[in-house]
Amino acid sequence: MSFEIPAKPSAPTLPAYEVTRIRVVRWFVWCNHCRDWHVHGPAPGHREAHCRGQESPYYRTGYNLKLVGKMSQTQARREAEARRKTMPLVITRPIPKFKWH
Ligand SMILES: [Zn+2]
Repeated sequence: MSFEIPAKPSAPTLPAYEVTRIRVVRWFVWCNHCRDWHVHGPAPGHREAHCRGQESPYYRTGYNLKLVGKMSQTQARREAEARRKTMPLVITRPIPKFKWH
């Protein structure tokens, strides 16, 4: 890791998983609000929320990323499907389909 973005103590910290797609490394963070991965550059620290609506609890605070492991693209997709089945629906608007390419 060549750089680090300072964490904001006031923002929540979310676990990030390193996913390499077509040789590009990204950190995936699961958002309970959007029920999807938010994809960020690979560095710990604070990020603006990639949430789709201002009603997200992360919208104003953003969140800190903390790397907890690695996943393949396939694992990330399966994990998303599994989590959507077990987690309550928070938003009612349609979720745009995640683009994998
Ligand atoms: Zn979100």
